[in-house]
Amino acid sequence: MTHNADELTRRELLALGGAGAVTLATTGLGTSTAHAEDKKEDDTPQVPRRKLGKTGKSIPILLFGAAVDLDPRFDPKLAEALRYGVNYIDAADCYGGGTCESAVGNFHTRAKLRDKIWITSKSDAHDPAGFEKTLERSLKALKTDYVDMYYLHALKDGDYLNKDMAKTVERLKKAGKIKHFGFSCHSGTVVELMNKAAGLPWIESIMFRYNFRQYGNKELNDAIDKCAKANIGLIAMKTQGSEASFRTAWKKFEQTGKWNKHQAVLKAVWEDDRITAAVSHMDTMGKLRENIAAACDKDKLGALDRKALEQYAAATRNYACDGCDHICNARVDAPVQIGDTMRFLMYHDGYDEKDKALRLFKELPAEAQRLSGIDFRQAAAACPNNIDIVAHMERAAKLFNA
Ligand code: SF4
Repeated sequence: MTHNADELTRRELLALGGAGAVTLATTGLGTSTAHAEDKKEDDTPQVPRRKLGKTGKSIPILLFGAAVDLDPRFDPKLAEALRYGVNYIDAADCYGGGTCESAVGNFHTRAKLRDKIWITSKSDAHDPAGFEKTLERSLKALKTDYVDMYYLHALKDGDYLNKDMAKTVERLKKAGKIKHFGFSCHSGTVVELMNKAAGLPWIESIMFRYNFRQYGNKELNDAIDKCAKANIGLIAMKTQGSEASFRTAWKKFEQTGKWNKHQAVLKAVWEDDRITAAVSHMDTMGKLRENIAAACDKDKLGALDRKALEQYAAATRNYACDGCDHICNARVDAPVQIGDTMRFLMYHDGYDEKDKALRLFKELPAEAQRLSGIDFRQAAAACPNNIDIVAHMERAAKLFNA
C-alpha cells in the first residue's frame, strides 16, 4: 500500500486503540493520496495546515503543547489530537518536571508512528556544548534518532545566536539529529531577538509570546513583518494572554455564544497570516476538542467577538504581564525576577497549575526567591501596564513561601 509519508492510514490509527479513546478514521495528514481502503471512514474533520516558513514543511495550525500532565505510558490526548490531524507535539527537556519527553517517546513507540509525528523539543542550555549535550539527552528520552525541530528554550540573550551555535546546528543537521532549528522566547527581549533572527539565514522558526493584548504593538508587529519576510516560520505561544488573579474576567465579556475565550483568542491569532500556527496548552480532552472545533470551523471572528476581546484586554491590562522585566527588575535593589515570578503567578491563577508554579519558582536562583521585605514601589511605578507589582509580589511571597 502506498501513501504519503505524513499521512496516517486507518490501519495505523486503529493500531493506537490500546488507549481506549481512539476509534479513528484517517487523519488525512498531508495531501490526500491514501489508498481507497484507508479512506472509507474519512469524515473526521481535519485541522488545516500551513507551511512553516523556510522549513518547507506543512504543520497543523493547532499544535499540542506538551507542558501538561501526560500519561507516561500512552497519553490518550495525544491520540485524540492525531485523530484530527494535530500531529505536532511541542515538548521540552524541562516540561512536566523532566517527564514530558519520555512520555512522548513512549507514545510514539507504542503507536509505531514516529515518522508521522512532528516532535519539537528544546534545550534550556543555550551555549553550543550545553545545547548538544541536552539534545543527546532529549533524543534518548524521546526514544528517537532525530527531532523535527530543536529550539533554544526561552532565549533571552541574543548573543547566543552566534557563529559557534550556527556551526553546531549545521553539524547536528548533517548528522541527522535535528531536522530544523530555531528558538522560543517570551521575555522582554522578544522584539530584539526577532529583529536579529531576521538577518540570520540559519534560524528557521521562532516560537514567541503573541496574543490579543499585543495586536497594537508596533515594534512587535514590525519584527513579525521582518521575520515573515525572511521566511522564518512563526509560531504563537501564550495566546491566552492570561493574567494573574482575574480568572473570571472573561465571563463579563463573552457575548456571542459562538466562541468561548480560549477559542476566540486562537481564532484571532490564526487570522494573522504571518503566523503559521499556535501552540496550545490542552490539559483536558474538553479543551483539546474545543480548540480543534475552533480550528476546523471556517467561520472568522465576528464583530461581537472582536469587541469582547478588546474590552477584555483593556479591563485586564493591569493584571497581565508582558515579561518586559528589564524595566521593573532594574528598579529594585535586589536580584528579583519579577517577570518570571508574574508568569508563575499566571500558572497558579490562570491555569490552576499550583504545583508547577511552585516548582518553577523554587528553581529560580535562591536570591531571586527572596521577596519579603523588599521595596517594589519604584518597579510598580515604572511598569507600562500599571501592574500592582507590590501586591503581586506580596501574594507570591505568601503563595510560594518566599
Ligand atoms: S511587571 Fe510590568 S514591567 Fe515588569 S515584566 Fe511585567 S509588564 Fe513588564
